[in-house]
Amino acid sequence: MERTLSIIKPDAVKKNVIGKIIDRFESNGLKIVAIKKLLLDRASAGEFYAIHKERPFFKDLVDFMTSGAVVVMVLEGENAVKKNRELMGDTDPKKAQAGTIRADFAESIDANAVHGSDSLENAKNEISFFFAQTEIK
Ligand code: ADP
Ligand code: MG
Repeated sequence: MERTLSIIKPDAVKKNVIGKIIDRFESNGLKIVAIKKLLLDRASAGEFYAIHKERPFFKDLVDFMTSGAVVVMVLEGENAVKKNRELMGDTDPKKAQAGTIRADFAESIDANAVHGSDSLENAKNEISFFFAQTEIK
C-alpha cells in the first residue's frame, strides 16, 4: 500500500471536471483518503514547486497554479505513485497516451490538469506539505 499526492489544477477545476478526474482514480483502485479545495498563494505554490525554481517556466508555473482554485488529494492504493502517474499521462498532453487524464482534459504543457508525486519519497513530503496526519483517513 502506498500514498501519493494528487492536485487537480486550476484549468481542470475551471472546466468543471473535478468529478470526472476523481472517477479515474476511484475506477482504477485508488482511494481518496484526504481531500480539500483551496486557492494557493504565490509563496506556497513557489515552495511546493521549489525543485523547478531555476527553470525558465517557473514564473508561469506559479502564475498558473495561483490563477484559480485547486483540489488537493491523497490517493491510497497498491503502487499508488506509479499508478497515478500512469493515469495522468505525459506532462505534455500532446504526447500523453489516449485515455489518460492529460490526453482527455489538458490543453497544454502549462495547463495540464493534474499534478502527481513522482516518487514515494516526494509523495511523503508533498502529502505533509498539505495535510496533517489527522486529516488523512
Ligand atoms: P509533471 O507535472 O509531469 O511531474 P514536471 O515535474 O517536469 O512535470 O513539471 C512540473 C510542471 O511544470 C508541469 O506539470 C507543467 O505544468 C510545468 N512544466 C513543465 N515543463 C514545462 C515546460 N517546458 N513549459 C511550461 N511548463 C512546464
Ligand atoms: Mg513533477
